Amino acid sequence: MTFAATVLTLYPDMFPGPLGQSMAGRALGEKRWSLDTVQIRDFAEDRHKSVDDTPAGGGAGMVMRADVLARAVDHALAARPDAPLLYMSPRGAPLTQARVRTLAAGPGVSILCGRFEGIDQRLLDARPIEEISIGDYILSGGEMAALTLLDACIRLIPGVMGAAASGEDESFETGLLEYPHYTRPQEWEGRTIPEVLRSGDHARIEAWRKSQAEAITRLRRPDLWERHEGARDRSPSGAQREKKDE
Ligand code: SAH
Repeated sequence: MTFAATVLTLYPDMFPGPLGQSMAGRALGEKRWSLDTVQIRDFAEDRHKSVDDTPAGGGAGMVMRADVLARAVDHALAARPDAPLLYMSPRGAPLTQARVRTLAAGPGVSILCGRFEGIDQRLLDARPIEEISIGDYILSGGEMAALTLLDACIRLIPGVMGAAASGEDESFETGLLEYPHYTRPQEWEGRTIPEVLRSGDHARIEAWRKSQAEAITRLRRPDLWERHEGARDRSPSGAQREKKDE
């Protein structure tokens, strides 16, 4: 099965862009995923092909028109009725690795990229659109956000990543940030690789990595740490542990 991506944008030339390189580019060539771009402007019907207008109520900037977007969106929904339709938006639910995994396991995604001040709210109310944010900052358009989301999905498609296992103990997959990595040379600028990693003792190495991951998560992301601890306490073994403590 091919993961089919459809991107609705005013800038189709931005695609595949960086996704034409490296792992994602190779996978595109191998047809493990496919990419279609839809030029939103093709759905404008006036002489000037206008896709935006001034905001109702006044204020700065321009707003993308619901009628034009609806024609583009309906075209995408008809072409890919099984794919979720996403709108990249700073007001959306923050993208997580869990959501990425679900999307990557599905038939694909259709992604609407906003520009200017954003899009007319009525389109979001009238169509089955999921708003997704890639972080608490403002981009100039949804294209970079779409590329980011697609990159995160594509690397999880079976056969795309070199070593399939390398997705599994990465940051977020375990609910923790990842442990630090090292590689040759053994000594660099007077710094050596931690002794345990050269011990060949796999149990010790695993224990060291786990404690490093826990320490860095506690320090840098107390929010993740709290959730991780909460999940552990709710798990069957966590419940047992609690009972024992009583
Ligand atoms: N006025 C809007 C920002 C518009 S930015 C606000 O303050 O919320 C223009 C477009 O860029 C948006 O329509 C959206 O598609 C995209 N965009 C900007 N920041 C984003 C983010 N953090 N995540 C996903 N998409 C984003």
